[in-house]
Amino acid sequence: MSTANGPMELTGTTVDELAAFLASLGEPAYRGHQLARWIYQSDATSFAEMTDLPASLRAQLAERARLTRLAPLAAVRADGGDTVKYLVELPDGATVETVFMRYEDGRRSVCLSTQVGCGMGCTFCATGLAGLTRNLTAAEIIDQVLLVQRTQGERVTNAVFMGMGEPLANYQATVRALLVLNAPWGGGIGMRHLTVSTVGLVPQIRLLAEERLQLTLAVSLHAPDDALRTQLVPINARWPVAELLAASADYVRTAGRRISFEYVLLEGVNDAPEQAAHLGERLVDAARAIDATPGQSWHVNLIPWNPVYGMQYRRPDRARVEAFARELERRRVPATVRLERGVEIDAACGQLQRTRGLAEARR
Ligand code: SAH
Ligand code: SF4
Repeated sequence: MSTANGPMELTGTTVDELAAFLASLGEPAYRGHQLARWIYQSDATSFAEMTDLPASLRAQLAERARLTRLAPLAAVRADGGDTVKYLVELPDGATVETVFMRYEDGRRSVCLSTQVGCGMGCTFCATGLAGLTRNLTAAEIIDQVLLVQRTQGERVTNAVFMGMGEPLANYQATVRALLVLNAPWGGGIGMRHLTVSTVGLVPQIRLLAEERLQLTLAVSLHAPDDALRTQLVPINARWPVAELLAASADYVRTAGRRISFEYVLLEGVNDAPEQAAHLGERLVDAARAIDATPGQSWHVNLIPWNPVYGMQYRRPDRARVEAFARELERRRVPATVRLERGVEIDAACGQLQRTRGLAEARR
């Protein structure tokens, strides 16, 4: 986390790294916990606020350390304020989106971005249109949670890595962010309340299984066969459905956690009952390969496509979505239709940026 000469970035460091850094300044190790509390729990935005640290240390920190604190350029509210979508400015001026969702059952969830843009080019996704600009740092991922807490005045209980970008293409920063958000000295969010969504990068799914984190892994499937999946998700040409299902099954076995398959429904493209049947059969077979039932191994999340300006796809109606779910359930593959949040503010990934970009272009 530290650079040879520049200031040390503190957001994203573990309590042990903080203690080591403080020791290099001649400070006792317990100050690592004090500093972590200021960074992750008291949401300090400057060293001057850290009033239980000696003034001399605060002055040294101001000189030798840095604290990434992001600011929203815009915030759009929906669902009576229970969904808020932020356009967040990064230190280099690039922007990403973060979405806050407040649920009646008490959950306070944040949808995090992990990259500026995305290089995967899925044909139905707004983020994929512009390509990849860069990876986010762990500090930039974590501070999206802290920014929501600062502006909403509430603690976040859940985080989903489903905003802009492919988290497993930014593996190191994603895993660091997960560990810090989970740690008792950090975000204090239960690992089971952290969800990472991947387009299906097989080697990284296998790596993640070895970390043995109790997080929820979501895998974006979107089609039952290679011909269609490669059309929708070009990376499928590199890691086809059979390899992805095998890696998913191994993940379930190693991590001991069910996988959520995401399936974005596009009318007339991947939403036919026969396609649901084919998907169901493949999921039954892939579970059988690890001596498990589909219900023990996975869960399918059906997501009616959120329209993206300029794209030709259509969103299927309710009856078609339910018919698709029934085909899966007939094969004992659990399926749910994802609750819609923030539809009127385009809370699907990539869209606030596009809206703003359009507004600027019109000026
Ligand atoms: N890159 C990762 C995580 C970010 S996308 C991934 O692809 O899994 C999070 C989810 O939103 C993915 O399942 C993706 O397929 C879905 N998604 C993208 N664009 C969408 C849209 N316009 N409507 C509905 N879901 C969309
Ligand atoms: Fe990237 Fe995910 Fe969008 Fe595909 S769906 S382009 S992987 S953000």
